[in-house]
Amino acid sequence: MTDASTAAAQRPDYFTPARLWIKGENFVQCRLCAHYCRIKPNLSGNCGVRANFGGELFTAVGNSLAAINIDPVEKKPLFHFLPGSKTFSVGSPGCNFHCKFCQNSGISQIPGAVNIQQRNLGSKVTPQGLVAAAIENKTASISYTYNEPTVFFELMQATAEAAGRHGLRNIMVSNGYMSAECFDSLKDLIQAANFDLKAFSADFYKNICGGRLNPVLRTLKAALRQGWWIELTTLVISEVNDRREELDALAAFIAGELGPDVPWHVSRFRPAYLMRNTPATRIASLERALESGKKHGLKYVYVGNLPGHSSENTFCPSCGLTVLERVGFNTRVKGLGVCPECQTKIAGVWI
Ligand code: SF4
Ligand code: SF4
Repeated sequence: MTDASTAAAQRPDYFTPARLWIKGENFVQCRLCAHYCRIKPNLSGNCGVRANFGGELFTAVGNSLAAINIDPVEKKPLFHFLPGSKTFSVGSPGCNFHCKFCQNSGISQIPGAVNIQQRNLGSKVTPQGLVAAAIENKTASISYTYNEPTVFFELMQATAEAAGRHGLRNIMVSNGYMSAECFDSLKDLIQAANFDLKAFSADFYKNICGGRLNPVLRTLKAALRQGWWIELTTLVISEVNDRREELDALAAFIAGELGPDVPWHVSRFRPAYLMRNTPATRIASLERALESGKKHGLKYVYVGNLPGHSSENTFCPSCGLTVLERVGFNTRVKGLGVCPECQTKIAGVWI
């Protein structure tokens, strides 16, 4: 093989679309997420997925996935979006955050420095193949989930386009750290999202997740303005992000900036990854979050990862009737979109 043909054979298949990166002097800048990494030759960005290969922005993920499952949509969690439906769920290796409590660290955290030629991350798929599998399995939607889907942007975008043509909905489960440019490329393709709002503290985002709070808040507002159905999740950790003032500020932000109809899932932390020695969340911390949500007028606050807690049900915000009853991931529907007792509208996407 000649040098030229060797180089051609080694050239990675996948490059980031031109509008999502720029070329500088001896670096490329990725514009997919709010890290806006400047990457020197043969090095990768913060996520370990995007790398500078010969002055272009390569993705080590391309059309590869690390996880494929068929999940109840309630598992995302989305409680007000096509309840009782199944969603075809996919995730790739890598993440632009490095949360010390990550439950999916086995796929989200890529060890070691980038080596583009040797990288063989995940299993190869095609957007058309994923859509065909979703249809075959009678799912109502495709979810981009498990790791941060921004890092497998190209596959998500192409799959979402194909899914939309077949009447499937598209769901992101995201940390909200995508850039404005990335959001702009996705805004017409996604119908629903569950965004993490991991805390209401810049220090928490910096020290526990390796990110910043403000870009996340900006994404939440943009998604809502765009008409996506959004729900939020906060993993509450006792003595880490469960101070009453912080929970009050977080709930006030949701109610004031996003609106009281946005569901808030307060989820129980269980020891994982770099926080294996931190105890599971005390019930009192979760109940404090529930109180903050109610105090600030949020209509739908749910306690997650705590099987059997009655706060997994949806109650009519006017008369208190249970309109959606959940046991595990099974949903019993008593009223869909409207309370059968008092006719109050229940916010969500039901059909
Ligand atoms: S996706 Fe984010 S973390 Fe990864 S290289 Fe691009 S800007 Fe950096
Ligand atoms: S954003 Fe999610 S997948 Fe990524 S490190 Fe944090 S918890 Fe893990």
